[in-house]
Amino acid sequence: MRFSQLLLPTLKETPAEAEVVSHKLMLRAGFIRKLASGIYCYLPLGLKSIRKVEQIVREEMNNAGAQELLLPMVQPADLWQESGRWHKYGAELLRFTDRHQRESCLGPTHEEVITDLVRKNIHSYRSLPLNLYQIQTKFRDEIRPRFGLMRGREFIMKDGYSFDATEKGAEETYEKMKYAYHRIFTRCGLSFRAVEADSGTIGGSFSHEFMVLAATGEDTIVICKECSYAANMEKARAMETPAPQAEEELPLTKVETPGKRKVQAVCEFLAISPANLVKTLIYMADGKPVAVLLRGDHEVQEVKLQNLLGATEVRLTDDKETFDSTGTPSGYLGPVGLSLPLVADLEVTKMANFTVGANEKNFHLQNVNIGRDFTPARTADLRMVTKADRCPVCGGQLELTRGIEVGHIFKLGTTYSEALKATFLDDQGKEIPFVMGCYGIGVSRAVAAAIEQNHDKDGIIFPLPIAPFQVMLLNLSTQDEAISKAAESLYADFTTNGIEVLFDDRDERPGIKFKDADLIGIPFRVMVGNNLTKEGKIEIRERAGSRTTAVPFEEATSRLKQMIESAMKNCQL
Ligand code: ATP
Ligand code: MG
Repeated sequence: MRFSQLLLPTLKETPAEAEVVSHKLMLRAGFIRKLASGIYCYLPLGLKSIRKVEQIVREEMNNAGAQELLLPMVQPADLWQESGRWHKYGAELLRFTDRHQRESCLGPTHEEVITDLVRKNIHSYRSLPLNLYQIQTKFRDEIRPRFGLMRGREFIMKDGYSFDATEKGAEETYEKMKYAYHRIFTRCGLSFRAVEADSGTIGGSFSHEFMVLAATGEDTIVICKECSYAANMEKARAMETPAPQAEEELPLTKVETPGKRKVQAVCEFLAISPANLVKTLIYMADGKPVAVLLRGDHEVQEVKLQNLLGATEVRLTDDKETFDSTGTPSGYLGPVGLSLPLVADLEVTKMANFTVGANEKNFHLQNVNIGRDFTPARTADLRMVTKADRCPVCGGQLELTRGIEVGHIFKLGTTYSEALKATFLDDQGKEIPFVMGCYGIGVSRAVAAAIEQNHDKDGIIFPLPIAPFQVMLLNLSTQDEAISKAAESLYADFTTNGIEVLFDDRDERPGIKFKDADLIGIPFRVMVGNNLTKEGKIEIRERAGSRTTAVPFEEATSRLKQMIESAMKNCQL
């Protein structure tokens, strides 16, 4: 492809609308242009990169036994009413009415449509397992579309759905998909981790998110420095601290703590450590108040709380609600004598002679003990893991780091097949629902994530497998006939040899070409300039490195092929 003929509108300045690096660079490098909030045009270079990710996804999904199909983007409301999601999904679902007054929506995901397709066409266990996927534009009316392709309203997703006859079969399919995802992201040249994610009511370890590791990621993930344990914050567990030595229970005492409401203020005032205080937080779980007990230096993980309570929504109450449901101003709450359901984090159960609010303004209680002074209705792991915790698997040191979610695999079980009455006859002739799984990849987000992970102050540093081109060929002297001729012949030679090349044949100064090459981030740069006239050599430079290698003109193609091959090897399994 010739730069001079390509729609490649690079920008010198960073557009003000862009906040994160990938968004800035994708705009500057002429990969995307915004049409409306969260809706982008993919320009030729951006699309090339997206297509490369798609191709890797396609190959690996096919290898894993999945079949590609393409489902409609417009979906009838009836199906969503049947699954119960027409009302549950909320405002992210873009709904509209057609000329016949039929209600429809734009597909944000396709569980309903695929389940409908399968229930109408598959009737026997003999046709199972079945694994289907598509690569398609999705629409989600995100409340805060931002960061360019990272969180668009319209974006490209690979979504896959599996149908198995048994739980065991579904679990095997899940493992196959997990392996396929490892291959996909490795082949994309990305540094990533599969992390355990919350799977709601489905037990076991059957939800994983694939996170591209990047300091700018929206998600915090916990990884063990010593073993392969990794989880997102919603799911992350810590090794339980050992049960303390039995401590003699001291007499309960009430102390005055005038105006001391915050953990830190109370602890300083009483000269105790936050690890010796239990805080009491009032949450609304589907509109009903519950008191959550937590060690002073810990934080609630709301998804864990929600799962424990089986609630669809939990939220911390404000000061007024707290007062209304307890009769005590917040800051002085405690479990002793509190007439609300009490749930305690596991770590609280290890404490003795601790401090709590006295359920009276300006007072706290000290030397409180579980059993003697109060009894929680339930205890569970309810807290956020911290970097001071140890790995729950090996006891190793945990690290909190940031990632960008590019994929999500999930065992659905029979939630959708039951709701939509999607059943088949098993080998005993019994009619039972399909056991399903779903598997998403944010294709357009993956390209943005790759840039978030791989860039420097000058621009993008594309991983080779998903770069729009492998090589950028620069004619550094378009006025010089010999140089131009040599550059043209290299362009032809590279193309014949299957090297994907972007040829900067523009009549521009070398400085401008270098800047654009750095910005666009194509992995190999071949420069044809004065060195050719002087020594018969061209120069090759890797975008990721700092070295420039002079290579005899005749050897350019073979050297480049070697370099590409060896770089691709790094992204293979
Ligand atoms: P998030 O928590 O980021 O909103 P999600 O849980 O809604 O993601 P899924 O429904 O699992 O995402 O979708 C599958 C994949 O699609 C995600 O892993 C992500 O990579 C991608 N994705 C989801 N929402 C968007 C979006 N608004 N823009 C671009 N990619 C997205
Ligand atoms: Mg979402």
